[in-house]
Amino acid sequence: MLTIENTQTWLTLFADKITDNAAYLSELDQAIGDGDHGSNMARGVEAMTQELNQATPETVADIFKPAAMSLISNIGGASGPLYGTALLEMSKQAAEDAEDLGALLQAGLAGIQKRGKAQLGDKTMIDVWSPVIEAVENSALNKETVYNAVEATKELKAEKGRAAYVGERSIGHLDPGAVSSGYFFEALIESGVLNG
Ligand code: ADP
Ligand code: MG
Repeated sequence: MLTIENTQTWLTLFADKITDNAAYLSELDQAIGDGDHGSNMARGVEAMTQELNQATPETVADIFKPAAMSLISNIGGASGPLYGTALLEMSKQAAEDAEDLGALLQAGLAGIQKRGKAQLGDKTMIDVWSPVIEAVENSALNKETVYNAVEATKELKAEKGRAAYVGERSIGHLDPGAVSSGYFFEALIESGVLNG
């Protein structure tokens, strides 16, 4: 179950992982995209952290909403609206039910798919969100699930986003957005949300 405290911890841990690994994320994006995923995400989570530090949320939904808005308005690349929409949909779902983590993440994934129109197997962040949600729903999420989902993007051929332009050449490289989503879910595991 999500609480104000563990949700704040989740997003703070996510922000820290992005900041610590920004250079690596951009390096991954250099191979199959335009090399900005780390700097994009770092700018977004910095704004998000500032926003969260100032806020006095009364509900879990009150945390996700400003977090979403700061990602949408501070990330130039495709990943900003995608993560932002995910968190915005999670905010709406949390207002309905902050206990069902599976439903919360499903709402986030539905937002990503509505905005980006990618399917499972297209070598995007969806290839991490989808198996992770399945594991959450089976009460089986652990870091190995996350790691395996991220690694599995290596062999996929990109069909959506900038990496689709390099087509076959994307095979053999991790998807940068899958890696940043991996940090999102590692942060979730470390936050204690799963134990609550
Ligand atoms: P840009 O591609 O505009 O430079 P980023 O480099 O910040 O944006 O983000 C790239 C990541 O966004 C990709 O690695 C992929 O995971 C994700 N992505 C791109 N397009 C889509 C899409 N249509 N649906 C889901 N995820 C996508
Ligand atoms: Mg990019």
